[in-house]
Amino acid sequence: MEPVVSPCPLGPDRAGQHELSYVVVIPTIGRPSLQNCLDALAAAAGPAPQQVVLADDRRDTPDPLQVTVPAPLADRTIIVTLEGRGPAAARNAGWRAAIPSEWVVFLDDDVCVGPDWSWQLAADLCGAAPDVAGVQAIIRVPPPAQSKPTDAERATLGLADAAWITADMAYRRAALTDAGGFDERFVRAFREDSDLALRATALGWKLRRGCRMTTHPLRPACGLCAATLILLGTRHRSQAALTASGWLAMTAEFTLARIAPGPRTHREITAMAVTSAAIPPLAVGYWVAGSWQHRHARSWPPLPAAVLFDRDGTLVHDVPYNGDPQRVAPVPGAAAAVAALRRAGLKIAVVTNQSGIARGLITREQADAVNRRIDQLVGPFDAWLVCPHDEAEACHGRKPAPGMILQAADLLGVAPADCVVVGDTAADVSAARDAGARAVLVPTTATRPAEHNGVACVASLTEAVSAILAGTRLPSWRSAPDAQPWPGGPHATAATVEV
Ligand SMILES: [Mg+2]
Ligand SMILES: [Zn+2]
Repeated sequence: MEPVVSPCPLGPDRAGQHELSYVVVIPTIGRPSLQNCLDALAAAAGPAPQQVVLADDRRDTPDPLQVTVPAPLADRTIIVTLEGRGPAAARNAGWRAAIPSEWVVFLDDDVCVGPDWSWQLAADLCGAAPDVAGVQAIIRVPPPAQSKPTDAERATLGLADAAWITADMAYRRAALTDAGGFDERFVRAFREDSDLALRATALGWKLRRGCRMTTHPLRPACGLCAATLILLGTRHRSQAALTASGWLAMTAEFTLARIAPGPRTHREITAMAVTSAAIPPLAVGYWVAGSWQHRHARSWPPLPAAVLFDRDGTLVHDVPYNGDPQRVAPVPGAAAAVAALRRAGLKIAVVTNQSGIARGLITREQADAVNRRIDQLVGPFDAWLVCPHDEAEACHGRKPAPGMILQAADLLGVAPADCVVVGDTAADVSAARDAGARAVLVPTTATRPAEHNGVACVASLTEAVSAILAGTRLPSWRSAPDAQPWPGGPHATAATVEV
């Protein structure tokens, strides 16, 4: 992380010159603080969000969310409901349901953005380099007015220095898509944010601290939970030492360390004594149980359900406006790569722009004949999607618009987030990302060098399919080290596509 930038590099007069495209996603379990959160957001000066998504994650709650959306946000607020799947799944559902803005700002439902927040956000985001995946806010936690903070309060105060927390974190949508969003196996609001940050960093994206200010209330939490989080999070105490004969001494030291900085009330001292004895065995037990339970866990995101291929330059050598089946020439390994996906149980489809039809250069029948030939040589594919329009018709299906990707996912009965698009141009990548699908670029000599930046890139179709099937991390930015299997995850080796 870069150091805090202060004062703000851009004021309201300069930040406004940039076109800022962002949505706000607020996962909520219906806490009353949501109202304050929305009121502060509505009151913040500066460019308004294009959309506010409330991800309602209350369990078994048919009643509507008890919140009054403030007037300035009323025309742009939507609610998605999840039924208690946890904050990671709620944030994913939120950003995926939102309009495809460039940035997604995650706010917790108990924070209050500052009065100049939107201007500060504009400065944070407009100043971000293209390889910056996320810009974190400065979180202010007001200390308790009277006494020293209790152990539980100190856990909350620690938020101010915590890296990558999603109490107020802006992520580039492209980076979210590349990383597959939050790992939904994190069902509690703990460490799912660091996990995403680490995965984005592993893909070559960078994370920064910005200048916008957000307040998080000092809310007393359950003392045992908070202290457990501190213990698990910072590993103050070596787990090995707990097995040694110094148990009592260690417990005493631990207890005193937690009592010393706080208010020495009878209640606090009792709570610290009891929880300090309980935390070490609980923490170790929890760690062991978790390690065992998740010993076979694969890295996130899971394998896709479908792979959507561009046609020209990706599956077959590009013959501009080809209307002749005899001139179809698949790229090396295309048939084997597609067959490997089929064997692995993935759905496969082709998504292709054929503006030659609109331009009158080829007929629909000729295009269909060419597609049938490709289906014979490389397929069969589960679906073929062809956009016959040219730029002038502004068809939502024509790449780089996402329509064809969305339609393909729908036809195959899978979510766009469970699709990977393989193509050879930036239009393929944009279409994929705007649809919420991941993308892999296989450049040809016609692919411009600038199109390689910020996108997973491999040398051949065979390599693309191998990486997809192996779950290999392909870096989005070339400065990243070579794609590595995730530490702690399975050591994925690149699957060889059988010929
Ligand atoms: Mg192409
Ligand atoms: Zn079209």
